[in-house]
Amino acid sequence: MKELKCPFCGGKIHIIKKECLSNGFVSYGLHHDMFDHARCVLAGFTTQNAYETLEQAIDEWNQRA
Ligand SMILES: [Zn+2]
Repeated sequence: MKELKCPFCGGKIHIIKKECLSNGFVSYGLHHDMFDHARCVLAGFTTQNAYETLEQAIDEWNQRA
């Protein structure tokens, strides 16, 4: 899995993978680490929706950026 970097500060973006225990549905989200880059406009930002694929989560991220 490729590593994602913030387009503004170059900080690390964490991939959040959630798996539903009842039906096995896996969803993805992205979260900006705010501790190393607290001044970045996207610091602490997390995608609002759960996506079936990582690509969809990245799309939302890129639109935000
Ligand atoms: Zn950033």
